[in-house]
Amino acid sequence: MSDCLFCKIRDGEIPSNIIYEDENVLAFEDVNPQAPLHVLVIPRRHIATANDLQAQDAPLIGQLFLAAKKIVQDRGLAEDGYRMVMNCNEQAGQTVFHIHLHVLAGRIMHWPPG
Ligand code: AMP
Ligand code: ZN
Repeated sequence: MSDCLFCKIRDGEIPSNIIYEDENVLAFEDVNPQAPLHVLVIPRRHIATANDLQAQDAPLIGQLFLAAKKIVQDRGLAEDGYRMVMNCNEQAGQTVFHIHLHVLAGRIMHWPPG
């Protein structure tokens, strides 16, 4: 997707602080962090929203969560706890239409979210 912000980050056209990458997954720091650790984990392949996921994407979605877990573990924050969330469409607050798992850690979080 030529006009997708996260595809541009994936392609190095927009700078980011990449903290994890493998064949299928990329993770970088959120530019507007909401916790001491706030990382976005994305599939390299453009998928606009969770509504666009297909059955064959199940392993890819699993890889997003496994990458998130590894990042938090590597920072030593996993045992204290962390949050992983994916917003879908307008009412959930999705603003970038390339799916991304928010990974937030390093502070106490509350529920329900706003
Ligand atoms: P969402 O609102 O769930 O779609 O999340 C989009 C996230 O992307 C927000 O938390 C933004 O702060 C973040 N964001 C927007 N632009 C950039 C960028 N250039 N680099 C890193 N994160 C970004
Ligand atoms: Zn994209």
